[in-house]
Amino acid sequence: ALHNTIQELKGNIRVFCRMRPLLGEEITKNDESLCQINFPETENSIELVQYLENAAGNKTNAKTTPFQFDKVFQPTASQAEVFSEISQLVQSALDGYNVCIFAYGQTGSGKTFTMEGPPKVNGIDDPNTGMIPRAVQQIFTHAEELKEKGWEYTMEAQYLEIYNETIRDLLTKDDGSKPHDIKHDHQNDSTHVTNTTNVMVTCPDEVFVLLAKAGSNRAVAATNCNERSSRSHSVFTLKLTGTNPLTEESSCGVLNLVDLAGSERLNSSGSTGERLKETQSINKSLSSLSDVINALGQDQKHIPYRNSKLTYLLQNSLGGNSKTLMFVNISPATASFTETLSSLRFATKVN
Ligand code: ADP
Ligand code: MG
Repeated sequence: ALHNTIQELKGNIRVFCRMRPLLGEEITKNDESLCQINFPETENSIELVQYLENAAGNKTNAKTTPFQFDKVFQPTASQAEVFSEISQLVQSALDGYNVCIFAYGQTGSGKTFTMEGPPKVNGIDDPNTGMIPRAVQQIFTHAEELKEKGWEYTMEAQYLEIYNETIRDLLTKDDGSKPHDIKHDHQNDSTHVTNTTNVMVTCPDEVFVLLAKAGSNRAVAATNCNERSSRSHSVFTLKLTGTNPLTEESSCGVLNLVDLAGSERLNSSGSTGERLKETQSINKSLSSLSDVINALGQDQKHIPYRNSKLTYLLQNSLGGNSKTLMFVNISPATASFTETLSSLRFATKVN
């Protein structure tokens, strides 16, 4: 049975690449003389071209690295277009699937824009509203439709941050006094975190209030530690439990939306103290995530979930009855070329 579920999962990992537009000064400063990013005719592909210079400083030949993804979004893609490609997946959480949607990429590549939207959005109808509010809205709309068929849902929200391999509850003013341990219950194969706030929600607005609260709790912490949000992972979880008295069916699905820490290679040799610890924690969790996805894809017997808080926390949503989507967010700026190449390579590895 285990084998079958893993087999099923194999087809359940998708990778979408999204390139944001050039912004502000980048527009005038972008120098494409030595490196370029192209979108070939072949659908959903992207290629990185690097020109090599000879000793005399003349461009000689080019090195082209092609990449193929399940979907490639060019800089002109709107939030609505992006959402339309994930809405089915979001909906499947109501059918009892465990869904994980990640945003991976270097700091400044558009992860938070994709997941939440830009810092100031004007409600759910703002065209820049991100995937999290859109997903929440859609879940409630669809749950309402399923009512006609007899389905009743209870929904529970949770919002956690993982910073330096320590979990923090974003829905309270978490001072760290209560430990957040991950517990795995073998009997019913479920994972939960101790001392977290789990809020029952009955409409999208209630969730939006929680999202705002998490945002301000995060900002408070950020003043103590610069740019903390880009050095930490945030995991928003909606647990959807459905019962249908008419058909005597029931379902239990989970939707996880994860804004990952910036993937940029920090020079750990030059950093010390907190910075070094941050770097090591991020490297550990991102490589653990890739290891877990690879192990699942290769039908390995042992899946190394426990190597990081992130993968342990998401254990039940990464394997078995689950569906995973990874956005790899990239910047079009030639100054970010090396990071872009490394993000695309990472994404190919998990694809
Ligand atoms: P990250 O979370 O990966 O560090 P952000 O989401 O904060 O990156 O994006 C960096 C900047 O780029 C922000 O100012 C954001 O509003 C802008 N941005 C990102 N993606 C887009 C996009 N698709 N369209 C317009 N602006 C974008
Ligand atoms: Mg961000």
